[in-house]
Amino acid sequence: MKHVRFFYISIMVLLAHTAFAQQNLDANYYKKVAYQKQADSLYKAGAFAKAASFYTKINQLIIDGQTVKSVNAHYNAACAWSLAGNADSAFRQLDILVHQYQFYAIKHINTDRDFDNIRDDRRWQTIIDKVRANASLNQIRMRRHTPDSTYNMTIFHPLTDKVKDIIANDSLPLASVNLEKFRLFFRVDSIDVKTVNNVSEELSLAFNRINEVFELGYKRGVNVVLFHSLREMKAATGHSAYGGFALAGHDCLVLYVGGQKTALPIAHELTHLMLLQSWGSTSRMLNEGAAVYLQNECSNVLANPINTIAASMLERGEFVSLESLLTRFDQHARDAEVRTYFQSASFFKYFFERFGPNAMRALWKEGFSDLEGLIGMDASTLEKDWRAYLEPIPNGDDALIQKIFQCGCQTL
Ligand SMILES: [Zn+2]
Repeated sequence: MKHVRFFYISIMVLLAHTAFAQQNLDANYYKKVAYQKQADSLYKAGAFAKAASFYTKINQLIIDGQTVKSVNAHYNAACAWSLAGNADSAFRQLDILVHQYQFYAIKHINTDRDFDNIRDDRRWQTIIDKVRANASLNQIRMRRHTPDSTYNMTIFHPLTDKVKDIIANDSLPLASVNLEKFRLFFRVDSIDVKTVNNVSEELSLAFNRINEVFELGYKRGVNVVLFHSLREMKAATGHSAYGGFALAGHDCLVLYVGGQKTALPIAHELTHLMLLQSWGSTSRMLNEGAAVYLQNECSNVLANPINTIAASMLERGEFVSLESLLTRFDQHARDAEVRTYFQSASFFKYFFERFGPNAMRALWKEGFSDLEGLIGMDASTLEKDWRAYLEPIPNGDDALIQKIFQCGCQTL
């Protein structure tokens, strides 16, 4: 059940917000995280009916004006209801999955022991038939959109409903231009050619760098929606992030180009998009760590920003434990956003450069549960090693570091 790891590209809505722009997450985002945790621990404790009701609650939340649509939450609710002996409720969840979400993971559902209680129910075969039908439809869909290896060009996949809603919204449909790997959507009456050129140049550089550094071989086209006004951004997307955000699972970045003085977080957001879509979902710590690392934020004021800032934090006793950073990222970020992002970036940099892209990819996907098997080190040895690696690095100037912690680097 927790092992569900389907990549539902149209549903995996993972908003990835810019560092140092105020986090700006809907309060219900934190509720979702809390429900998930609560449900998982109830499930582990064998309190299946209670677990099921928490999984169900996840999909009743409204985040950024839209109902949460978590396949995993429906699936896990179905598992928990089955284990609790409540077949009707389990089938209600399964019905939603197969009809509204075109659930297609046939092998997974067929072998999941959580459903042993309901496999003999007459409704089970109907569900399985539908999953099988969905699976063959999905195969056809994938074949249509996945080119063979001789295609050495950028492939634009069909727009998701969410992206269609943004660019073709009733009141303000947007025009678009195609530039290499990107399709840029914007109002031609309010965004000038120079801005479009600058953005596309930066996008191109970042795209190549991300592909190279993380060895992704990424070929999907990226839709980029530009807004010149936060009000319009909010009206069209439900958010008004000062900078921008990535819509992972939707091949889409949204950027605010309204003449703010700070640099656009293009590499940061594009890292979120390309990594989440290549490697799947992950912890907030690694997700934000990767983005800050790749953008090399604060390189405008420091030569070796991530290590220097992290070494200064360590020296000042401002490091939180690796476990706490991993499991309570959002709480830490609310208290000390810049520190939290940089400590995460420091861990990412250390791990990535020490163990390489394959190990990082595994850590990203599988988490920390089999660290020994992955790198031959347990978590506490790893943490010590990370700290030891930072120790010889010279600290930054105290006043400068202090300023960075207050407001980030973009305005310095
Ligand atoms: Zn981010």
